[in-house]
Amino acid sequence: MTPENDYLSHIYDLAKQRDPHKPEFHQALLELLIALTPVIEKTPSLCKRGILERLIEPERLIQFRVAWRDRDGETRVNRGYRVQFNSALGPYKGGLRFHPTVNSSIIKFLGFEQTFKNSLTGLPIGGAKGGSDFDPRGKTDNEVMSFCQSFMSELFRHIGASTDVPAGDIGVGNREIGYLYGEYCRLMNISEGAMTGKGIFAGGSMLRTEATGYGLCYFAESMLAGLRNGSLKGKTIIISGSGNVALYAIKKAQAFGARVIAASDSGGYIIDESGIDWALLRQIKERERGRISEYASRKPGASYHEGCSGIWSVPCDVAMPCATQNEISLESAQQLINNGAVAILEGSNMSCTFDAVQLIMEEPVLYVPAKAANAGGVAVSGLEMAQNAGHASWSYEKVDDMLQSIMNSIFHRCIDAAVEYGHPENLLIGANIAGFVKVSKAMAWQGVV
Ligand code: NDP
Repeated sequence: MTPENDYLSHIYDLAKQRDPHKPEFHQALLELLIALTPVIEKTPSLCKRGILERLIEPERLIQFRVAWRDRDGETRVNRGYRVQFNSALGPYKGGLRFHPTVNSSIIKFLGFEQTFKNSLTGLPIGGAKGGSDFDPRGKTDNEVMSFCQSFMSELFRHIGASTDVPAGDIGVGNREIGYLYGEYCRLMNISEGAMTGKGIFAGGSMLRTEATGYGLCYFAESMLAGLRNGSLKGKTIIISGSGNVALYAIKKAQAFGARVIAASDSGGYIIDESGIDWALLRQIKERERGRISEYASRKPGASYHEGCSGIWSVPCDVAMPCATQNEISLESAQQLINNGAVAILEGSNMSCTFDAVQLIMEEPVLYVPAKAANAGGVAVSGLEMAQNAGHASWSYEKVDDMLQSIMNSIFHRCIDAAVEYGHPENLLIGANIAGFVKVSKAMAWQGVV
């Protein structure tokens, strides 16, 4: 499939010619370009001055060798990346992912998406992403530290509180951020907010750990109230994954009165009709770094099923994919629709395949793309930057209020853009247009750079 508009189709072809082997980036770009069709028709000036030609090209893409020693003293080599995609709105900002599937296509799609997500937050932050094909699972703390220090021994020269501010993502949590930030401070002889997601005792923000999952639920509440006169209360929910985003989405959904009955990891999924025992799941996945299968052996009445995709066959009202990209296939989307799901909100980046999104958009199902739904994490990262810059430390309540307000504003920005461009209730189109318009205006204002 290509965009119907000739100019948008040309942009898509250009990107594919330049980067023929980056399917995830093509997928993210195609979603944006199709959504921009009404913009080209109604406000073509937004795409003048080579805005799109420049937008699809990262300002900088850094790739580097990461050599480190394992527990046996053997030398291991991984590949590190940082894509500094767009700084029109402010310093580059976006997480680091450590996972064996990381490659330049994944990093490029994530950096591209991050640019529009950061724009939607309303905060002055540009888009970036980075990571490595290093797998922290099964590694000792010393191995993770050795890797992180080597990774930062190259990355430090490219980042800084006013230049580029990385955070966490898959495989990069509190432990990894600590090792990375410690090495940054040592090499630079400076203590500044060059990373977010820091420990509270070292300049981190209250609520950063919870922010993405909580933000997802705040968006869901705004959306269900605004478009369906409803709420999460009493809804049956499925949340895939059991990492940072999933855990805190489960916690907040339950606080809103929802019944979360399934969760997963890369091995399989659990069903617990009585509602997930959050403390137990957190103990297993966050504290013990164990497998989700252990949940079923410790919780009477719960069951474990091998394989990830089966989770979408479990009937639910609301689906919140929170594991990884393309986790909802066409078949899974069809199962969700057949089972009567009323809303799908992407907690993970680009959770649905392109075909799955096309199918969902034909149905009266509320669909929220990641750039809007999971923006709570980067929003609180932006608040952490503001606290660091002002040498301040805000209370949990203050940050939580601001997060709720930002997620509510993102919902309204998306809906307003959807209405303005003739697609009411279409949050896919609304999120892409609202994110794009702000970046394109900033780029046009700054001239051709
Ligand atoms: P974590 O590493 O904390 O957790 C990831 C979870 O997803 C784990 O349960 C993991 O299982 C599972 N998973 C990872 N890869 C796969 C795979 N290929 N197939 C199936 N399951 C997989 O990551 P986060 O929770 O931080 O991130 C989850 C998603 O949310 C990502 O898409 C990320 O980009 C996005 N996101 C994260 C933000 C944040 O603040 N952390 C902000 C915005 C978006 P296992 O335990 O077996 O590895």
